[in-house]
Amino acid sequence: MTQKNWSDRINPAVRSVPPSGIRRFFDLVAETRGVISLGVGEPDFVTPWHIREACIYSLEKGYTMYTSNWGLLELREAVAADLERTYNVKYNPKNEILITVGVSEALDLAMRALLVPGDEVLIPEPSYVSYAPCTTLAGGVPVFMPTSMENNFRISADQVRSAITPRTKVLLLCYPNNPTGAVMEREELAKIAEVAVEHDLIVISDEIYDRLTYVGEHTCLASLPGMQERTVLLNGFSKAYAMTGWRVGYAAGNPDFIGAMTKIHQYSMLCTPITGQMAALEALKNGQPGMRRMVGHYNRRRHLVVQAFRDMGVPCFEPGGAFYAFPQVSVTGLGSEEFAEELLKQEQVALVPGNAFGRSGEGFARVSYAASLDDLSEAFRRMARFVRRCGVR
Ligand code: PLP
Repeated sequence: MTQKNWSDRINPAVRSVPPSGIRRFFDLVAETRGVISLGVGEPDFVTPWHIREACIYSLEKGYTMYTSNWGLLELREAVAADLERTYNVKYNPKNEILITVGVSEALDLAMRALLVPGDEVLIPEPSYVSYAPCTTLAGGVPVFMPTSMENNFRISADQVRSAITPRTKVLLLCYPNNPTGAVMEREELAKIAEVAVEHDLIVISDEIYDRLTYVGEHTCLASLPGMQERTVLLNGFSKAYAMTGWRVGYAAGNPDFIGAMTKIHQYSMLCTPITGQMAALEALKNGQPGMRRMVGHYNRRRHLVVQAFRDMGVPCFEPGGAFYAFPQVSVTGLGSEEFAEELLKQEQVALVPGNAFGRSGEGFARVSYAASLDDLSEAFRRMARFVRRCGVR
């Protein structure tokens, strides 16, 4: 083979997107022995047995084919029923719900279906690592709205209003939030919704952590006045039902948006794998008690983790949802990356540096408490030692 440099033939948008800060850090983790990882945003539970069994049973019955592009109608009906029961929002399962390969695909489809080059997408920061790259890859321009611990990592309606330009098309929200664990009150969201209506914005609402809400009640954005028609609601099974590897999510929204997303999906994915869809159907039918048990475990760990950081002298925002804590590690005198790298090297504990989630994450680290109590207590023993060596307390 000739040694030609092919990189200039790659789409410049793809070249412009940096590799995920999380992935980069995990290459380092892979090279280190005896690591306790509190880095990955993934339940430490195996998918409940009845869900796995339903999938096995479906295979025994021969369900191995393509499904409709939209996904199994029975699953879409179950999703619609779940959304109506939980949030009193009604979607037509025939043309307002699309089953996707995780929320990841739904996010990508929403961006590609909605954006034309130059369209601006407002994103609260720190933000989930996919938001900016998916925006850029779809030709859009991410516009970040920084949040801080002082404001409980929440955005305000005023912040949204002042970030709007004539090119703003989409507001992307994620509460409960990854990486901060922040949640938003209904009244605050309602004010933001008013701004969205006033400026005719489309809202993509990533509610993948909705069931992992520990403080107050989750507000489904589409349930707010004037919002359902302009909201692309994203959710899935990865977090609530411990089903990350099954790759099932969905988008719900008006038939124009969902129809456009389905058009892309039918040519790229064709459909979401039937095995995952069968499992997701069982999760919605019978998975609520198991899901609530897992959420109870996360909630207990949440208290322990926040307290453990405070006992060490590291300020830690109290997360109201998801399974992340976002301690302010800059009290050690180290920056985010230095803290994460030194902690890994010296004590073999892996966290994600906060700046992987954007500039306003600098000075923080993301700690996933979706880990066993044994791992958490050993990790905290090591971290306390490290933090003491840095001169805190
Ligand atoms: N959205 C957020 C905020 C996430 O944290 C994640 C995964 O960590 C995803 C989407 C991706 O979810 P899925 O597994 O459904 O693709």
